Amino acid sequence: MIPLSRPDITEREKQAVLAVLDSNFLSLGPKLREFEEKMAAYSGTEYAIACNSGTSGLHMIIAGLGIKDGDEVITTPFSFISSSNCMLFERAKPVFIDIDENTYNMDTSQIESKITEKTKAILPVHIFGQPVNMTDIRQISLKYGLHIIEDSCEAIGAEWNGKKAGTMSEAGVFAFYPNKQMTTGEGGIVVTNNKNLAKLCYSLRNQGRGIDTQWLNHVRLGYNYRMNDISCALGIAQLERIDEILAARQRVADAYMERFKEVEGVILPTVDERVKMSWFVFVIRFESWIDRNVVMETLLGRGIGCRPYFTEIHLQPFYREMFGYKEGDFPITERVASGTLAIPFFNSITEEQVDIVVDEVKRAIRYASIADRETRLKKLWEDVI
Ligand SMILES: *Cc1c(COP(=O)(O)O)cnc(C)c1O
Repeated sequence: MIPLSRPDITEREKQAVLAVLDSNFLSLGPKLREFEEKMAAYSGTEYAIACNSGTSGLHMIIAGLGIKDGDEVITTPFSFISSSNCMLFERAKPVFIDIDENTYNMDTSQIESKITEKTKAILPVHIFGQPVNMTDIRQISLKYGLHIIEDSCEAIGAEWNGKKAGTMSEAGVFAFYPNKQMTTGEGGIVVTNNKNLAKLCYSLRNQGRGIDTQWLNHVRLGYNYRMNDISCALGIAQLERIDEILAARQRVADAYMERFKEVEGVILPTVDERVKMSWFVFVIRFESWIDRNVVMETLLGRGIGCRPYFTEIHLQPFYREMFGYKEGDFPITERVASGTLAIPFFNSITEEQVDIVVDEVKRAIRYASIADRETRLKKLWEDVI
C-alpha cells in the first residue's frame, strides 16, 4: 500500500511528451540535442551524450577509453551489478575492494594494494547518492596514471567538496530508470570534458557510425544505445525541476532521520561532512541482533514496499561461477549487505505515510529480534488474535 518508489511526473512532463508525439521527430531529433545541451549546462561539462540506459553509458566509456581484454578496473562489490558488468562487456576484469562501514562507499585506502601492471582504471560508485572521497581517488589516479570513471547513476546533483558528482574525472554517467531522482522511462547520459571520448560515444551509441563522415559509414563496432526524443522531452521537463525534486527528497530523508533517531537497533545513513547528498533511496541498516529478512517479510506482509539494497555483486551466482568468489571475501560489504533495507522513499510520500512506515518498522523489529522461529510465529499469532 506504500510503494518503495514512485516517479514524480507533473502536467509539464505529460505535455512535453505529447508535443514530441505531435512532431515528426521521435528519435535523433531536436529534443535529443536540447536534452544534451541542458544536461551539459547543468553538470558544467563540455559534452553530454544521452543513451538508452546508465549501463550503456558506462559501457561506452569503458570501450571509448580502450579498456579491453585482460585489463583490470578497481571497483566496489557493494553496488548495482551494472557497475561491474560494464567492464565484462569488454572482457576486462573487475577487481573489488571492500567498503567503508559508515558511508558504504569503496574504502579508498585499499586501492593502492590492488594496483598491478594490468590496472587501467578506478571505477568509484557514488552509492545511494553519496559521492566517494574523490580527493583520494584523484591523487591515486595521478600517481599511477589511471583513468577514473564515475558511476554517478545514483548521484545526480550530489557534491564532493563543492564539486558535482560525475564531473570530477574523465567521465561520469547519470541514469534515469523510474526509481532514480529523475527519469526518462529508461535512459542514461555520459558527461565529460574529453572531446575524443565524447566523439567516440556519439559513434558507439549509433552503430559505430563515423561522426564527421557520410551517412551509413560505419568505422567501428558500435551499438544501438540511442535515447529516443520522447524520453529526451521527459528528461528536459524533469531536469527543469531537478532542484525542487532534490529538495523534496531531502525533506523526506530529514523526516526519516528525525523519527528513527531514537529507535534501538536501527543504524541511519552516515553522510560525510564534505558531501552534499542527492538522496536516491533511503536505506536503513539493522544491528546484528535483528534479522533483516524477517523485518522485510513482515513489512511486505503489511503492504510496505522494501528491498535489500544491495546484494553483493561478488556473491551473485554468475560472479561466483566466473571468478570463484565466496562468502568471506569482502567481509564489511557482506556484513553491511546482510543488514540493509531500502524503505519507501519518494517525493510525494506524506508525513502520515512516513509515520506509518516508522511504526511498522518498529513493530517488525519486535518479531525480528526473536531468533527462534517457533517462538516468533507464536508471538506473531498471539498479536493477530
Ligand atoms: C541505476 C544504476 C545504473 C544504471 O542502471 P540502468 O538500469 O542501466 O539505467 C548503474 N549503476 C548504478 C550504481 C545504478 O544504481
